[in-house]
Amino acid sequence: AVVCLGELLVDFVPEENGLPLSEVQTFRKAAGGAPANVAAAVAKLGGKSRFIGKVGRDPFGEYLRAALAEAGVEPALVETDEARTGLAFVSLKENGERDFLFYREPAADMLMRKEEVEEAWLQDAAVFHFGSVSLISEPSRMATLDAARRARVHGAIVSYDPNVRLPLWRNADFARRIIVDQFPFADIVKVSEEEVAFLYGEGVSLEKGARLILGAGPRCVVVTLGSAGCRLFTSSGEVTSPGISVQAVDTTGAGDGFVGGLLYRLAADGVKASRLEEAFADSAFASGALRFANGIGALTTTRRGAIPALPTREEAERELAG
Ligand code: ADP
Repeated sequence: AVVCLGELLVDFVPEENGLPLSEVQTFRKAAGGAPANVAAAVAKLGGKSRFIGKVGRDPFGEYLRAALAEAGVEPALVETDEARTGLAFVSLKENGERDFLFYREPAADMLMRKEEVEEAWLQDAAVFHFGSVSLISEPSRMATLDAARRARVHGAIVSYDPNVRLPLWRNADFARRIIVDQFPFADIVKVSEEEVAFLYGEGVSLEKGARLILGAGPRCVVVTLGSAGCRLFTSSGEVTSPGISVQAVDTTGAGDGFVGGLLYRLAADGVKASRLEEAFADSAFASGALRFANGIGALTTTRRGAIPALPTREEAERELAG
């Protein structure tokens, strides 16, 4: 299975985009959180996926459990009375920028403790994916890294997507330090072009940024380039995969769809952690897997929202065949 752990929250999204939050009249509920989106992407493609997270014992927590199950994801949720389920109000403004408001004081997902993560949730992990907000506070950071370590003992490939969103991460220096600190725990890291610039400076080349990340321990780094696709770097070389041309209406979730597509392929093809670099050194495998991931990312931009916008296996095959 592809096992994802971390942020899970209810997103309140406007009926129509284009307004700042202060002007939105009506919101709709949607399940959100980057690693949860990745789990949903894998499930919609027909892969087995599980999401490990923590919610409050409240109606929003129940809603999220049902939403994960409906997306085909096995919910592995800890319920707590010590905090409420996380919430966010998110609007895409006219210029495409996101306007955010969070309920996190802290929310339940930031209070995950390592002993709450059951061994049975990790045992069958072919891939373990983590990232985003569970890393900015304790005890959820310890719980996340401990689960990554345990999943690796079970043979999983460990995948990390920092998914930095500054308003939530206190300040840029803190965010940079947190992100860089997680690199040694991962086999594969996905970052966007903007994140490379954020981490190492505007002037840095993608090669240099990727080399700095690889130097911390991961075996591969994938840099996503929006509509231009992605580049994958390993110690032995690099592969570029051009974007798939689509009519984009909302890029929310594109990165998560991309990661879901890539991890789905690694699990479906039975790639072992110890053979990850070797797998990507095979140019047919690398270009196939990256093209597939680009296709899932691209299709995710053609519909609004994150989880509802993720494509099914049939949609992906149709798009990639054409
Ligand atoms: P993030 O969503 O994490 O910021 P990107 O914007 O780089 O990351 O998008 C992730 C992936 O989604 C890209 O590598 C690409 O495959 C796909 N994608 C994103 N935007 C578009 C677009 N406008 N057209 C086609 N594909 C896109």
